[in-house]
Amino acid sequence: MSLLVVGSMALDTITTPHGTHEDILGGAACFFSVGARHFTDLRLVGVIGDDFPEEHVSMLRDRGIDLAGLERRAGAKTFRWTGQYEGRMDVAETLKTELNVLGEFRPTLPSSFTDTPFAFLANGDPVTQAWVADQLADRKFVLLDTMNFWIEGARDALVTAIKKVDGVIMNDEEARALGGSDNLIRAMKNVVELGVRTLIVKKGEHGAVLLQDGELFATPAYPLEEVFDPTGAGDTFASGLMGYVAESGDTSFDGFKRALAYGTIVASFTVEGFGLSRLLEISRADIERRVENFLAFTRF
Ligand code: AMP
Repeated sequence: MSLLVVGSMALDTITTPHGTHEDILGGAACFFSVGARHFTDLRLVGVIGDDFPEEHVSMLRDRGIDLAGLERRAGAKTFRWTGQYEGRMDVAETLKTELNVLGEFRPTLPSSFTDTPFAFLANGDPVTQAWVADQLADRKFVLLDTMNFWIEGARDALVTAIKKVDGVIMNDEEARALGGSDNLIRAMKNVVELGVRTLIVKKGEHGAVLLQDGELFATPAYPLEEVFDPTGAGDTFASGLMGYVAESGDTSFDGFKRALAYGTIVASFTVEGFGLSRLLEISRADIERRVENFLAFTRF
């Protein structure tokens, strides 16, 4: 079944211990759609300026992503993010954020998109996330991503948005901040009490935790010896997870447990290259092979 993503489209400048890459394609909507297209039909809603290279638009179109919701704003600039990672590369340090067209991003979905059953509302203004959630008439499962900036600066709007969706995904520090507890499980239970049925918390190289209807499940990350660039790991984790859920239509606890494995594996490919480079090389068969390996060394 179809899957919608609403989120940033970016030109990123990224520095890791492996080097610097300038103005490469990034943004949550791009990472998500390139990861999730292995599983199902993708519909993208995003905004770019007239400085966004046409080759990136062609790349997304050539991969079968429906771009009816892509708005190119004349005379305006694309969102740009400059970040760096040091040492263990577990934290992204933001050096510069130039919102540009993303500043006034409040999209009206094309009529061909409003019946989409599954959706990912990537990290962004919670007022926009709630606005999009309200336009999805036939939804089966909508997942919302957020970050500290909104937890600290727009908590009430975020809680309103959370009540409108079916699931929330965030990292462990964000869950502790929103849930108001240093204990992760306690914090997760507090977040669920805000009015969400399914909560997924990412813990970077330590894997992820799922809490749904009071039941807990945890998975490790896929062990990798070399990480080149962690950018997009969170969005592509969500892409494997939601891709699998949209493909299977299974929103049960067992379905989400399997979906967590797919999220883990798609994210593991992302970090093996700069930006989208590694993700663009892989096939569904590569994903399945790595899922099999993952199951073999997590089963006991
Ligand atoms: P992640 O999966 O969390 O590593 O997301 C990485 C992508 O998020 C990068 O390609 C950035 O372009 C994008 N990004 C960074 N900051 C923001 C922001 N404030 N709003 C929307 N997207 C952002």
